[in-house]
Amino acid sequence: MLMTVRGIAGILLIFSISGWTNEDKHSDKILDYCNSFRQLQTDIRDCVITPDSARIAFQNVMRNIQSEFNRDSCQAIDSSYFVYPVSNYRPRESIGGKGKGYRARGFDLFDMNAKGSHPAHDLFMRDRDQDNLDDRTWLPVNVLAFTPGVVIATETNWQYDSELRGGNWIWIYDPCLDALIYYAHNNIIEVQPGQWVNAGDKIAEMGRSGFNAAQKRSPTHLHMMFLQLDSDALPQPVDTYEWLIKATIKE
Ligand SMILES: [Zn+2]
Repeated sequence: MLMTVRGIAGILLIFSISGWTNEDKHSDKILDYCNSFRQLQTDIRDCVITPDSARIAFQNVMRNIQSEFNRDSCQAIDSSYFVYPVSNYRPRESIGGKGKGYRARGFDLFDMNAKGSHPAHDLFMRDRDQDNLDDRTWLPVNVLAFTPGVVIATETNWQYDSELRGGNWIWIYDPCLDALIYYAHNNIIEVQPGQWVNAGDKIAEMGRSGFNAAQKRSPTHLHMMFLQLDSDALPQPVDTYEWLIKATIKE
């Protein structure tokens, strides 16, 4: 009897060690892919890579990231899957222009010269004095993960004299939706590349970072872009208005 118990304990121990090792390798690989993704975003921004090369590099890194996840355990996608990304706000009071601010036409993630599109929703907070604090509570407003996923890249060091437009941003990959979500103009980022987040987890505090978002004319908001990967692992913008409207509101 004792032998049997010891035998089982031994097997369990081996299992848990190999499980842990695999987990570790998994996260090492993910961090490599995160670094590649980050470098690619920087190269596109600095125009040191052609749009065609950037497209191929993006496909490679996204296929690598896709291969790290098994989608068998994904839950059904219905409105309960989504959490409204602005803590304590109702979608209808916060989504800019009743959703009419979404314009996907002309969008090209790989070409900095492609202008005029806004394949995103701007989600506003009450901040008339533009101090990044909610006028009702005098507290920061939390940015919550709209869906679960792994944090792929963050910018945490935007400076107020910078001409870069995204400010402090976060890219998250959701393996179940097979999509990337970009959250821009944050004040403080509270996640790191490689980290898993659940829908509704705090990922940032809303802010005014980014060249345009920092201007007086711009009310404080979160810019949220949703890019579905197509069968070639290329990003296609999707209008998430209906998901935003029906999402769960969290304190
Ligand atoms: Zn925007």
